[in-house]
Amino acid sequence: WIHFHPKVCIVGSGPAGFYTAHHVIKARQDAEVDIYERLPVPFGLVRFGVAPDHPEVKNVINTFTQTAKHSRCNFYGNINVGKDVSVEELQQAYHAVVLSYGAEDNRKMGIPGEDLAGVYSAKDFVGWYNGLPSCQKLNPDLSCDTAVILGQGNVALDVARILLSPINILKKTDITQPALEALEKSQVRRVLIVGRRGPIQIACTIKELREMAKLPGTRPEMLAADFDGITEALKNVPRPRKRLTELLLKTALEVPNEEEQERRSKASRVWAFQFFRSPVEVLASPDKTRTAGIRLAVNRLEGSGERAQAVLTGELEDVPCGLIISSIGYKSTLIDPSVPFDSHKAIVPNINGRVQQVAGLYCSGWLKTGPTGVIATTMNNSFDTAKSLLDDMASGTVDLSASKAGFHSITGLLEKRGVKPVLFSDWEKIDSVETSKGEAIGKPREKILTVQEMLQVVHK
Ligand code: FAD
Repeated sequence: WIHFHPKVCIVGSGPAGFYTAHHVIKARQDAEVDIYERLPVPFGLVRFGVAPDHPEVKNVINTFTQTAKHSRCNFYGNINVGKDVSVEELQQAYHAVVLSYGAEDNRKMGIPGEDLAGVYSAKDFVGWYNGLPSCQKLNPDLSCDTAVILGQGNVALDVARILLSPINILKKTDITQPALEALEKSQVRRVLIVGRRGPIQIACTIKELREMAKLPGTRPEMLAADFDGITEALKNVPRPRKRLTELLLKTALEVPNEEEQERRSKASRVWAFQFFRSPVEVLASPDKTRTAGIRLAVNRLEGSGERAQAVLTGELEDVPCGLIISSIGYKSTLIDPSVPFDSHKAIVPNINGRVQQVAGLYCSGWLKTGPTGVIATTMNNSFDTAKSLLDDMASGTVDLSASKAGFHSITGLLEKRGVKPVLFSDWEKIDSVETSKGEAIGKPREKILTVQEMLQVVHK
């Protein structure tokens, strides 16, 4: 039996791509892995999602860099799979293909007025302040007093924190310069974080809530009535949820100690969770050009604990605001019609990362699970996918008896199509330009904001 070196192609260079690559390379000394990425820069949401004031989260980049520099791993950026090269072409060139291209779209609220000026998706807003090239034209209007964020997960809290943080804190992060300038001029003083259900059902984690509670220059302002019966209800919920809700209760209701009272009395900005509310309509300004508020339906809860359901009461409430950010979830898209896709769940249907009905095709990360969980969750599900792939190689389900040319057979196609791949060493040039630009102004990095300029650095 002749076995050729397994050649594996990974689509997407976020945490899922890198963790899958890492596991395959480590487990099989003969495997070679190529990572294809749409942008000229790697790391997906670690670069374009994770908040600029969370630098410690971005340390995973060091591990990913080690993987990328491994002798049996290659990075090919600036290749849009589905457009520049098809998944079928990749399947022909490699023994196996792992799709880990994340979730690049967002769920829509599906309410009238959603397209008015002043309404943004959290995905675009986050992309804007984190330097995602496609979001640089967003130029959000921050001239209003009140902002409403719909959704109560970690992304919603990231956005609230960025809107409310003192500029001196943001100045020391890798937030983009245009975002910094816009936030410096921002008039936003009040941020309401709206959720369909109650305090026991918020979707954020304790770290993010603690950061809000301690955010300099801000104070919480919540409705005591929203917390009726919560202490009693807490007896039956799992421990992490209990700790989270206790912190929320303390932040919302407890009479603060002297130091905290002083801190709050000096605060010029306010944030609040608003519970039991669903968006019904974005209200337009009198000239109909932009948003002037949001109409919310008042809900009550049916059932108890984490699974309680929001039920409409029929009551409505209008909240005046000039900025609305909908943070109700990211969504994966189909990049190539040959790939099976469950458009209802917006994932690639799979069992343990094996794409159903297509031998040799796998998926990992948010494309596999849907857009939930932190990087550690993505790591575990990517290791699981890698394990499925390795098992299939060992069992012969992935046929290693045929030689595969890997990138050698793709490079000709790309050349014909006028696509120039960006290598990891090219990214290192971009990285070094960005870090030295940042250093000059006391930031860890000043990101390059257009693909064109990234490519100029590469081809200089
Ligand atoms: P992604 O990170 O999105 O990577 C997908 C990659 O695929 C991208 O590089 C993309 O450019 C590429 N791609 C897309 N289409 C194509 C194509 N057609 N061809 C080639 N490549 C393509 N987790 C934490 O642990 N801590 C945090 O503080 C934290 N903050 C977050 C903040 C935000 C706003 C968001 C949205 C998420 C945050 N997360 C955080 C979660 C974390 O980012 C995800 O768990 C993780 O990034 C998912 O990894 P992924 O590889 O599946 O997707």
